[in-house]
Amino acid sequence: MPAIAIQREGEVVLFDCGEGAQRRILSEGIGLNKDTTVLITHLHGDHVTGLLGLLQTMSLAQRRKPLRIVGPRKLKDWLKATSEILEIGLTFEVEFFPVRQGVVLRTKGFVIRATHALHSAEAHSYLIEERGRPGVFYPKKAKRLGIPEGKLWSRLQKGRSVLVGGRSVSPREVSGPVRPGRRVGYSGDTRPSSRLSRFFSRCDLLIFDSTFAGRDRQKAVERRHSTCVEAAEVAKKAHARKLALTHFSARYASVTPLLKEARAVFQETVAAADGMKVSVPYPET
Ligand SMILES: [Zn+2]
Repeated sequence: MPAIAIQREGEVVLFDCGEGAQRRILSEGIGLNKDTTVLITHLHGDHVTGLLGLLQTMSLAQRRKPLRIVGPRKLKDWLKATSEILEIGLTFEVEFFPVRQGVVLRTKGFVIRATHALHSAEAHSYLIEERGRPGVFYPKKAKRLGIPEGKLWSRLQKGRSVLVGGRSVSPREVSGPVRPGRRVGYSGDTRPSSRLSRFFSRCDLLIFDSTFAGRDRQKAVERRHSTCVEAAEVAKKAHARKLALTHFSARYASVTPLLKEARAVFQETVAAADGMKVSVPYPET
């Protein structure tokens, strides 16, 4: 069931929350008390039923930090109703943000955007962008300005100004331009579209619906999902750096042929599997 965790410096963003997500979060050592945001694409059971279990498990772990949840408006009603009926007392606050087009939320480390997907229920796709990093630091420039190596250099490298001989030196004087952060996109269940190709433009990792094989395109059209080939075409049009195929139909005994088909269109493709980890390096490394 879909539940994809993005981890960065202690912060967690969870794309969808399928059944059993809390067990996987425990077994992977992701942690229940992290600065966490859950992004729900749409209200189909396989994408959302894990949320109650996750909330309860977090409470058992005495979570205190608020949990941010972004999703369709009705999700809030569902959570409220089930929490009341089941008398689930949470040890923390749930901050709910209804999903909409454009920037939906800014967290400590990310800017989170959403756009419309094309599925049988109202659905959204998400793009999370790491906040920009300070530019490349030039030691020669720092030396020329008489800034002693050590604490002051490290402050400048973190993008903060320093005081030298009564004068304030800004990081811009000793470093290159601010570098854009890494971007990870997640389609959720959807047909491909030019809107999505634009939305995912130049993302470092694209995680895309790959329910069907290329030959089953008609089924994908009917059920409002994508084929592995269509996922690869979106990645290619978007100039993504890497594609992870996900949400395979159980009808396929092996996903290897689907991966092969996708790679013929977009070479940098992997097939996601339970517990698989993918690192997203900075472009220049
Ligand atoms: Zn669905």
